[in-house]
Amino acid sequence: MDKYIAANWKMNNDFSDIAPFVKYIKKNAKHEKNLIVCVPSTMIKTFADTAKKLVETGAENCYFEEKGAFTGEISANMVKSAGASYVIVGHSERRQIFGETNEMLNKKLVAALKAGLKVIFCIGETLEERSKYKSVLKKEIVEGFAGITDFSNIVIAYEPVWAIGTGVVATTADIVKVHKYIKTLVKDTFGADVAVLYGGSVKPSNSKEILALEEVDGVLIGGASLKAEDYIAIAQSR
Ligand code: PEP
Repeated sequence: MDKYIAANWKMNNDFSDIAPFVKYIKKNAKHEKNLIVCVPSTMIKTFADTAKKLVETGAENCYFEEKGAFTGEISANMVKSAGASYVIVGHSERRQIFGETNEMLNKKLVAALKAGLKVIFCIGETLEERSKYKSVLKKEIVEGFAGITDFSNIVIAYEPVWAIGTGVVATTADIVKVHKYIKTLVKDTFGADVAVLYGGSVKPSNSKEILALEEVDGVLIGGASLKAEDYIAIAQSR
């Protein structure tokens, strides 16, 4: 299976960027598979309608309640009906800036799966937590996946927070070590095999080396996913 190439536009790009982005992919990457682009929620429908089957569209977040008085929030069903097939849950920016806890993220995960979405579930340690990464990741995994028995629509993205948007990339030895730890932990705790993506300053100049690692099932890309040229260069380095 082709490794996952998942983009996270965060709060960047605009409607006017969608058509040229998709056009470039159409022209340059006709046979690429497992391409996912997660966009701001207002752009999901336009992106999905434009990209059709060429790229899967993802949301960057959703709320765990199905409906009601939750001003400003968007449910998993809303995200799905707008055309998304994926949603990112637990990005470190949601955890750190918006105070999302493992308990909330577990509820979001359950809601997203119930709505029929596939989930990119992010975990990772901060720089201060680096020496105790095992216990940090274990807590995020054990609490985040509590009650989950079917992992077929879940991929984990390991994103060391110190490597996100900083230009600092984990060494390949670090990536292999941590991915092995995550896969073993999920297997031992939940009896499931799970794909693990790496995220953190992935760009065309380092993606080949990272994607060549057996323990890496794909990448989650922030900054370098904003331009179709870089995104496709990363996809083609698989
Ligand atoms: C991210 O935020 O998911 C990410 C990996 O960002 P960047 O590639 O910019 O480090």
